[in-house]
Amino acid sequence: MDYDTYGSNAVELAIDLANADRDADPGWAEAFLRAHDEWFTLETPLELSPAEARRAAATADLVRAVAVAATQDEVITRLNELLALARPHPYATDHDGELHLHYARPDAPALEQLTTTVAMGLSQVVAQHGWQRLGVCSAEGCDDVYVDTSRNASRRYCSNTCASRSTVAAYRARRKT
Ligand SMILES: [Zn+2]
Ligand SMILES: [Zn+2]
Repeated sequence: MDYDTYGSNAVELAIDLANADRDADPGWAEAFLRAHDEWFTLETPLELSPAEARRAAATADLVRAVAVAATQDEVITRLNELLALARPHPYATDHDGELHLHYARPDAPALEQLTTTVAMGLSQVVAQHGWQRLGVCSAEGCDDVYVDTSRNASRRYCSNTCASRSTVAAYRARRKT
């Protein structure tokens, strides 16, 4: 499928955020920002207050809600809740050598850059390619969400790991019967 590059990368950021493990580490939100620091302007402080970390969690919940929504009406409602948190301020840059657009202003706080990029990236992909491109992993014991970038929209798993785990499980189940 033919994504605009930035939109495509931004939706991956949204998916990563929705799948972030929040139970293991109370500092998960800051750890997430550090693991994805290429998304933030160089001088952006990546420390989050507890209130900001809760807002990052709310954003993650909304991305997940969009991905698991079963109807277009629900997708629209959830997307609009997410977009209401965004502060879009388009900004042209070539920080990586290629001229491209960012959705958030470069001097915005980390949480604003995160929320805006995630909300705009996700909405862009849904509007251009359809909300059916988002889904939740079919593997047993995994409820991670994914964006399906395959040409024929045939993806069912969050990762190759889950896909091969399920193939092996199905093979064993067949052999047993
Ligand atoms: Zn960039
Ligand atoms: Zn999975």
